[in-house]
Amino acid sequence: MGLNTSLKELEKTISNCKKCPLHKKRLQAVPGIGPSPSIILVIGEAPGAKEDKLGLPFQGAAGSLLTKLLNGVGLDRNGLFITNLVKCRPPQNRPPTNKEIKTCAPYLKKQIILVSPKIILLLGAKALKAVSPDSLPISKVHGQSFRKDGIFYFPLYHPAAAIYNRSLQVVLVDDLIKVKNFLVTL
Ligand code: URA
Ligand code: SF4
Repeated sequence: MGLNTSLKELEKTISNCKKCPLHKKRLQAVPGIGPSPSIILVIGEAPGAKEDKLGLPFQGAAGSLLTKLLNGVGLDRNGLFITNLVKCRPPQNRPPTNKEIKTCAPYLKKQIILVSPKIILLLGAKALKAVSPDSLPISKVHGQSFRKDGIFYFPLYHPAAAIYNRSLQVVLVDDLIKVKNFLVTL
């Protein structure tokens, strides 16, 4: 994985990766998808069953909600680069371990370099923690952007949390409106 690796080459590397135990039970890796460069890059947590089958991120119930909420604020998911902290499905959809997240992180880092986003949406506590280990909890900082290495990060509730707790959907919409408003200032 050299410095000039293209997204396509990176995808191939990820598909063949066996660096962490998650490779053992995956049907296929889910590297991520979207235009490059892209103004917005989205980081979720991990592929689930549907993602594992299709090889694409956010295909299940959380994905449908994400698509709907993005559309609601006038954003098309196909216009964003969407990926996850880990590229392979954890068995039984358990949360990825910190070690798995750390092992997979170089791929995400490379994607960020190649896609060159101005804004990164961090979906859920794990994505927030991975980027900003000392952050206050997502319940305190959702919707409040912070800048790191020239990129504006927006911590948001994970859409799966907003399925479980419907009252979070309006919060998520409010936060996405902040992202939309921020976009026009760029
Ligand atoms: N699907 C994904 O690709 N990522 C998530 O975090 C949840 C569902
Ligand atoms: Fe490799 Fe990441 Fe898949 Fe682990 S989750 S096997 S590090 S691609």
